[in-house]
Formats: sequence, structure tokens, C-alpha cells
Amino acid sequence: MSDQTTEGVIKYQLNHLSKPLSSPPIQTLNRWRSLLKKLEMIGQVPNRYQGYGFGNLSQRLATFTTTHNPNCFLITGTQTGALAHLSSADYALVTKAHPAQNQLTAEGLSAPSSEALSHAVIYQTLPHINFVFHVHCPTIWQLSQQLAIPCIPASLAYGTPAMATAIANIINNKQVQTKGIISMLGHEDGLISFGETADKAGWPLIHYWLLADNG
Ligand SMILES: [Zn+2]
Repeated sequence: MSDQTTEGVIKYQLNHLSKPLSSPPIQTLNRWRSLLKKLEMIGQVPNRYQGYGFGNLSQRLATFTTTHNPNCFLITGTQTGALAHLSSADYALVTKAHPAQNQLTAEGLSAPSSEALSHAVIYQTLPHINFVFHVHCPTIWQLSQQLAIPCIPASLAYGTPAMATAIANIINNKQVQTKGIISMLGHEDGLISFGETADKAGWPLIHYWLLADNG
């Protein structure tokens, strides 16, 4: 076990086995990542978040491993935001997660960030959800309340057990499930979208990006 720090502040317990993943299905996530990177919802630039990479995408992979964990998922690795294209080595497979204890077990040549705990809680709470996208978009985030995006209060920090509990509670609401997006007021510019398919997870981000009148 080791302590990991993400975005400079949040600590969590990671049990990470560094080994290559055998041909994980990365094509769908890479396609959406490429679009979200163009919209600057994923990336790494000197003038945002002290230069840390931001945004991560995941896909449930229930049948990929021999762990027989239906909540197992593939996620873009920590601090890969600057890369134009990701290969298998830039992904992590989360094989176990205990959001309430801030614990993750993962394998792959890349490690997951603490933000993977928020992805984990969505897969554990909603069995029909297969894709979770976490992005940073200042224009949507600043208009969260005007756009009636379900919000997690500013008092909760991302990547903490309290945030995981808040996410589980909010996504149990059917209207929130229909919108497929939540805004984290305590995580600058932070949004999470989710869906049964990648297109359903990605669409709310595009929809609200248009409504927020970008460009
Ligand atoms: Zn974030």
C-alpha cells in the first residue's frame, strides 16, 4: 500500500500492481477523450490547476479479469492529460474499490488517480451504468445552478469518503439519472457524467457545453 496525492491535496490508499494489461478495449474511451480534449475538458496546461493534468474517463469491464468483480473498470491513468493519444500503458484497471475507506486496488503500467473513487461509487451504485466521465469545464461549472445541473455542495472535497457518499445519494435520484450529469461545487470546474453507453455518458457534456454558450 502507498499513499498517493492527486491535484496536490487528496490522499488515498492505493494497492497497485504494476504490470501490462493484456489488450484492454481502449478504443471507445480514446475516441471520446480525443473530443473532450479538443473542448479542453481534459488536458494539462500551465495556467490551470497549478499545471496538474485534469479529467479522467472510465468504462466498466466486468468480464475482463478473473477477479469476477462486476464493478471492475478501466480508467485513464493519473497525470496523462497532456498526452495526445493514450495507449494501453496509459490505463489502469481498478479491480477493487472501497470508497468509504478511500481504498483502491488496481493494476496496469499506469496508476489511477484518487478521482477513480468517484467513478467506483457510480459503478457500485448503478449496475446499468457502463461509462463515467470526469471533466473540468469552467463555463458549464459556473452556470451549474442556472442550468439546473444537480450539484454536490461546495463543502465536500473530491476524492474523499464524504464525497463518495454524497455521489451515491444524489445518483439514486431518478431525475439525476435522466440528466446523467452532476456538478461538484467543491472541486473547481469539476463535472461527472455517466451513462449506459459512452455516447450517453458524453452527450450531457456536449448538451450543457452548447447551453453554456461556449465560443
Ligand atoms: Zn478533477
